[in-house]
Amino acid sequence: MNIIHFKYWFDRFKDTEFLFIAGPCSAESEDQVMTTATALEKIPLVKVFRAGVWKPRTSPDSFEGYGKGALNWLRLVKERTRLLTTVEVAKAEHVEQALESGAVDILWIGARTTGNPFSVQEIAEVLRGVDIPVLIKNPIFPDLKLWLGAFERLYKAGIKKLAAIHRGFYPMIKQKLRNIPMWEVPIELKTEYPQIPIIGDPSHIAGVTDYVGEIAQKYLDFNFDGLMIEVHPDPTKALSDARQQLTPEQFSNLISELHFRRPDFDREFVDKLEKYRMQIDSIDYQILQLLSQRMDIVRKIGKYKNEHDISIFQLHRWKQIVISRMKTGLRLGLDKDFIRNFIQIIHKESINQQFKVKKNGKKNKK
Ligand code: PEP
Ligand code: MN
Repeated sequence: MNIIHFKYWFDRFKDTEFLFIAGPCSAESEDQVMTTATALEKIPLVKVFRAGVWKPRTSPDSFEGYGKGALNWLRLVKERTRLLTTVEVAKAEHVEQALESGAVDILWIGARTTGNPFSVQEIAEVLRGVDIPVLIKNPIFPDLKLWLGAFERLYKAGIKKLAAIHRGFYPMIKQKLRNIPMWEVPIELKTEYPQIPIIGDPSHIAGVTDYVGEIAQKYLDFNFDGLMIEVHPDPTKALSDARQQLTPEQFSNLISELHFRRPDFDREFVDKLEKYRMQIDSIDYQILQLLSQRMDIVRKIGKYKNEHDISIFQLHRWKQIVISRMKTGLRLGLDKDFIRNFIQIIHKESINQQFKVKKNGKKNKK
């Protein structure tokens, strides 16, 4: 793919080494949009104003955006500030309305839409022959091929001004971050397709303001090409994503605390060692998540055994576990002793957990 880098998207981007996009999750009123844009305009690094006009919400009862009418507020941003604008589009009608309004400079495709090839194709079709940059968020699930498929669909429709947005992946198990970064996925994208710029979205990974700064810094350390951050003049009153939006002041402080790499720093995404370390970090994190999930199930089994007076240790089940895990481990190229030790440690902890359940059960009976 012969993608055109964002430095060549607009004349005013000429010296843009790092693309900063900021603005509220949703456009809520002319006043909210203009107050945010006026504050953001004062931060020279910010080049693009974001605001959702059509919001993909989990519940139909949630605020789904003001739609077409809100594009008028974005037009004011374009007219009255130096900022360019971007909105999320999820279907042909959105694209048509965004283009007709003349209020939108850049489109972005949201995580839920990227995961749906029909929708991406529909967007690609209406964009055929149109010269507008498109940012593509990763799909909700860590499927790099699906993410790349969206790039290919747009590219084949003639869109060459493309960039990726990494916003993390849906966590199967509840954890402190709203979405799991799984850094290995964007790294793989960067390794396979170095021509695609990647923008980080710390707001949607964090889910709460507390972690936005540290994740933003991580993106800089990993040499991502830009950041998209949600900023709202009064986040507590926001109609969507209230907990993760920063005030313009918090945002400006965050920027001043960020440590940018020296401009002469080797622009390689990450050196090899760092890349491997990130992969290890991410894998260890997933192993721990899985272990915690295993122990949850173990405790449920413990409770069941306790209620039905079944003994905790079952020799035939243990033998079965050892044989099947050894077989799988060996097939995966792991060392025999290592697999045996590993299963034993897990099994020991599982037995401990079940004894704890039993002890608590007795206490509760008393
Ligand atoms: C958003 O940017 O407000 C949004 C809906 O994001 P995502 O598609 O990443 O969930
Ligand atoms: Mn949002």
